[in-house]
Amino acid sequence: MGSESRVRVLKRSAEKNCYFLTQEGCHLPFARRPLICRLYPYTYTSNGILGIDRSCPISREQEWQSILDHLDMPADRALEWLTLLYDEVAQH
Ligand code: SF4
Repeated sequence: MGSESRVRVLKRSAEKNCYFLTQEGCHLPFARRPLICRLYPYTYTSNGILGIDRSCPISREQEWQSILDHLDMPADRALEWLTLLYDEVAQH
């Protein structure tokens, strides 16, 4: 199998959890998290943001967008991360 067919994944613990997941949540500072992690709970395609993952508890709140804004995860920032993500995908 050539190197071009390798799949990159985050390192996992013996329990198969993400290596960076702790009892208190993600161990990585937000700005250091993989783009795909920063984008959650937004749902998206390469064309843009679609909405929010219905399995995320804040999706049950009518003001979910305000909550994400308050968490410094507004849709316009998510769109920037989305662009970076698909740029990275296109390069590999
Ligand atoms: S946000 Fe990403 S890096 Fe952090 S614990 Fe979850 S899967 Fe791992």
